[in-house]
Amino acid sequence: MAFHWQSHVNVQHVGVDDMVLLSKLSDQAIVDNLKKRLQANSIFTYIGPVLISVNPFKQMPYFTEKEMDQYQGAAQYENPPHIYATADNMYRNMMIDNENQCVIISGESGAGKTVAAKFIMNYISRISGGGQRVQHVKDVILESNPLLEAFGNSATARNWNSSRFGKYVEIIFSRGGEPIGGKLSNFLLEKSRVVHQKQGDRNFHIFYQLLAGADKNLRSTLGIGELSYYNYLNQSGVYQAQNTDDAKEFKATLHAMSVIGISEEQQFDLFRLVSAVLHIGNITFVEDKNFAAVQSNEFLEFPAFLLGLSADAIREKLTTRRMEGKWGKQTEQIDMTLNVEQAVYTRDAWVKAIYSRMFDFLVKSVNGAMEIPARDSALSIGILDIYGFEIFDHNGFEQFCINFINEKLQQIFIELTLKAEQEEYVKEGVQWTPVEYFDNKIVCELIESKRPPGIMSLLDDTCAQNHGQSEGVDRQFLTTLSKAHAGHPHLQQGAECFLIRHYAGDVTYHIEGFCDTNRDVLYPDLIQLMQQSTNPFVRSLFPDQVNAGGAKRPTTFSTKIRSQANDLVDSLMKCTPHYVRCIKPNETKRAGDWDERRVLHQVQYLGLKENIRVRRAGFAYRRSFEKFLWRYAILTEQTWPSYRGPPQQGCEIICQSVNMDRGQYQMGKTKIFIKNPESLFLLEEVRERK
Ligand code: ATP
Ligand code: MG
Repeated sequence: MAFHWQSHVNVQHVGVDDMVLLSKLSDQAIVDNLKKRLQANSIFTYIGPVLISVNPFKQMPYFTEKEMDQYQGAAQYENPPHIYATADNMYRNMMIDNENQCVIISGESGAGKTVAAKFIMNYISRISGGGQRVQHVKDVILESNPLLEAFGNSATARNWNSSRFGKYVEIIFSRGGEPIGGKLSNFLLEKSRVVHQKQGDRNFHIFYQLLAGADKNLRSTLGIGELSYYNYLNQSGVYQAQNTDDAKEFKATLHAMSVIGISEEQQFDLFRLVSAVLHIGNITFVEDKNFAAVQSNEFLEFPAFLLGLSADAIREKLTTRRMEGKWGKQTEQIDMTLNVEQAVYTRDAWVKAIYSRMFDFLVKSVNGAMEIPARDSALSIGILDIYGFEIFDHNGFEQFCINFINEKLQQIFIELTLKAEQEEYVKEGVQWTPVEYFDNKIVCELIESKRPPGIMSLLDDTCAQNHGQSEGVDRQFLTTLSKAHAGHPHLQQGAECFLIRHYAGDVTYHIEGFCDTNRDVLYPDLIQLMQQSTNPFVRSLFPDQVNAGGAKRPTTFSTKIRSQANDLVDSLMKCTPHYVRCIKPNETKRAGDWDERRVLHQVQYLGLKENIRVRRAGFAYRRSFEKFLWRYAILTEQTWPSYRGPPQQGCEIICQSVNMDRGQYQMGKTKIFIKNPESLFLLEEVRERK
């Protein structure tokens, strides 16, 4: 075998490209390195194969087609760290090893996960070939982003375009490497946002888009008014998101819909529902002898018109509920009149259901447009962009679920990073000593274990035992919890709350509403109501069988989350994993601002130091013999300017030429493994001097 040396792309080094090479290993050293690099406009840094990405909050010049070409087929060390290198690596691994790949993108809100996911999709779309049909698949995958962002993203205090749902996109390839289909799964849409937003947050983008972008015709048919007119929009104090042109985004949403094949008629149906949601929010209640009465009947007219229902039917369903009572062996139905609080709760539950079913419809449309080919004949690349760990002043059931998923993802990271490491050593026949690390399995078990029952099971039990009741149930759950897990090292109990020691920090969860949210039932009354609609689209969103009676325990939200999380873990475990760890450098969203304390915290909980340590305790550096030669052949006369011997022997010659300690390196079957980064510095130094 002969090698011909080419000149390298000139790379300006700032700090270290790969933090495995840090001369002193500490959290502070990692922070310093990332800071130095960001100041020099390098947002990407490696830890071995893991990519760290620091949000620059400004457009970087290196995301053009030129870079896409530059990274295509290049080895990691030839170019500066880049998300395109990660994407290219996935694509090539898939093609060469015939293995499915996935990338797990993590980081907190505003750290750059969604942007990273889109870079990866764009890159893969560009470098993979294909004709017209393939182009369609690519278009659908790319256009699913603006569509789902319109309905699933929102402007929050932390991020002007915050994803309020998680998604896993699998792109499915033919054996020849052309995208022939795809599958999109969504997780945990934060549907409570439709009816309530924190101060400083907006509702989902689509409302503002529709109000800003709808033409005259649509405005009058849908009864569209000012933003301030709607209760669901005028409570949080924000209408305008920075750098966002809602009217322009509305056009992008319409375009995405048409690419995905949502007909104009369906589009109209969807916007009718979007408008109906807003109008329903203006239905308010007053107290009338302890019972709720609709404050002003005129506010029923527009929702009724938009949904194809009668105003009377809406009023009835919002102020009464049909309950089932058991008397001995008999089940009896009772119509119960609601109080104001219950009526508001029912109204909001109804709206949340409409909105989340609309969102599911969109996901289904995207999937329908891509088709899902038979798996055994295909390969896939999965991209996971799920919203990150959340710690607010007030954390409820939604945060609990989000943090649980993040806990699971951290577990895969730990398991697979180490597993992959170990497997490589075994495969290559090199010796090594395993490293100690914190296994967060104990926290996952605390939450999801069935036996002994973890937090979710206890919650389900409490909900089931108190069927149909709300009062006092949350507190009962808390009592059960503290009894069952007294003294657990990761759980503490407060008066109306409990605290979990998560891998990313301690979070206090307030129990109020836990049981109701967990039950996640839509009252049969509301389903029946929607089934009366004269509009077939509205009816199609509520196909549920409402069966009277039935002793079956209804599926709770935590049961769904648990099974979704485990399905996700199963799919991820079948792939070769890649990681992008996103870091948010400040809370101001401004380029150039650096919040040292916040970065340090993220570096700590992402476990970057442990990641580097694991990587180093084994072998910090590993390269195929050929690639090692390619870089260092210049060091000896026997290997430069050309070398014809066995590659492994060439590597030996090079190591000996710099007197590298024999204990510092091992030859595997196809790769050379070097233990200590200093040995590599030595090689690099000598190379520089040549
Ligand atoms: P969330 O969990 O809230 O969805 P996220 O991690 O997905 O947050 P993004 O929406 O990807 O965060 O990024 C937030 C914002 O930061 C973007 O809208 C963009 O303005 C900026 N940003 C992120 N990554 C980059 C980048 N690589 N270059 C320039 N700007 C970026
Ligand atoms: Mg996002």
